[in-house]
Amino acid sequence: MDLTPSLTIDTARSAVEQRTTTAAALVEAHYARIQKENGQINAFLTLCKERAMEEADRIDRTAAEGKPLPPLAGVPVGIKDVMSTRGVRTTAGSKILEKYIPPFDCTAVARLEAAGAVVLGKLNCDEFAMGSSNENSAYGPVRNPRDLTRVPGGSSGGSAAAVAADMAVFTLGSDTGGSIRQPASFCGVVGLMPTYGRVSRYGLIAFASSLDHIGPLTKTVKDAAAVLQIIAGRDPMDSTSAEVPVPDFVSELGKPVRGLKLGVAREYFADGLDEEVRQAVEVAIDKLKALGCEIVQVSLPHTPFAIPTYYLIATAEASSNLARYDGVRYSHRARGVKTLSEMYRRSRDEGFGAEVKRRIMLGTYALSTGYYDAYYLKAQKVRTLLTSDFEKAFSKVDAIVTPTSPTAAFRLGEKSNDPLSMYLADIYTVTADLVGVPGISVPCGVSRSGLPIGLQILGRHFDEGMVLRVAQAVENFTADSRG
Ligand code: GLN
Repeated sequence: MDLTPSLTIDTARSAVEQRTTTAAALVEAHYARIQKENGQINAFLTLCKERAMEEADRIDRTAAEGKPLPPLAGVPVGIKDVMSTRGVRTTAGSKILEKYIPPFDCTAVARLEAAGAVVLGKLNCDEFAMGSSNENSAYGPVRNPRDLTRVPGGSSGGSAAAVAADMAVFTLGSDTGGSIRQPASFCGVVGLMPTYGRVSRYGLIAFASSLDHIGPLTKTVKDAAAVLQIIAGRDPMDSTSAEVPVPDFVSELGKPVRGLKLGVAREYFADGLDEEVRQAVEVAIDKLKALGCEIVQVSLPHTPFAIPTYYLIATAEASSNLARYDGVRYSHRARGVKTLSEMYRRSRDEGFGAEVKRRIMLGTYALSTGYYDAYYLKAQKVRTLLTSDFEKAFSKVDAIVTPTSPTAAFRLGEKSNDPLSMYLADIYTVTADLVGVPGISVPCGVSRSGLPIGLQILGRHFDEGMVLRVAQAVENFTADSRG
């Protein structure tokens, strides 16, 4: 019997602890599932079975000795391929890193392993995490397990699809403009973007350093809390990781939502929001009200400027971060070149895909002398205005609820020739990245054609506990209504 579908962190860990199964058997079951599903879905790019079996054996020996097990003992996890893994190929979804084998582990991955989680392999994503559909991967698109004709969202599409198809109990993704929350919404799983600085970025291949966040994609809200617990906290290897105490996130989940003030922003329910998404989100908000939450209208007036601001700052930072792929060090090097500058140009031309090139050009332009003030500096000023919008709103409410994405999962190819319409898929998610506040996407309904719809909950800086608590309430009533 295939036991992967029913497994959460709790059920997997306690089965290992009570010796009703072994960590090795859980790993084998997940590899069998991957073997069966991955041909269609294309979520995993690289498997690391040897490393996984070593980890699993270590856990099983500890369990056999009757010693206490760590919090994620034997739980199989997949890692988005933008996080470095020692000795395991890490491509960032790019041809330029096709053969890159990092000599070190990303802090988040190291912390998971230290907590007993077992890394199965690396997950497909848009190239350098640039995209909203996973169609920008050099290794082919990922398909949405809920409907194979549709995209899983992006850029952490492999991370969301792997959880939705039970190929891992949970995964790590990264979110720069929505890339954890939007694919979670499209695939019907939970995706949590922590506060900027809550989780170390050490070992995360940089896209836009002031916007990049690592976070979990899980089957349940409780699992998201449990994973955050492990990966959160100051890391001396990342100077932007915050020296802020890490609370007990799981215990926050038990607190009632009655009496909480939840903000609803008019700007997030404007034109372009699909009717079915609107309805599902409004039903969820009504149910939160019925649980005793007070629904408060708030205004986030600079919202219309979020997408242009994001695409200026993200591309500017990306153009600088991606300068390191020059063919000299770890990246692809063109053959048969005659001069140094020809090597740079041809290596980058052969290694980068179209979207990455587009962004390097946009970002270089925005940072160039003469345009810097008009574009980059202006964008930074608008970023401050967006931050003050949120500060004002959070002086009145405990959390803000919005749709995660304006539509459910779209079809493969539907937007791939229209970058502007693709960029609009991020309209409800990018602002939280710019402001640095935490956000979660939790399933709240399904469309008539059976596609998942996500509700987004945003909180104050470092108040993931609140975001998780509201998400838990949504998960409870959504599960009830499904029966
Ligand atoms: N879709 C957005 C982009 O293409 C967000 C990507 C992300 O969050 N990594 O930039």
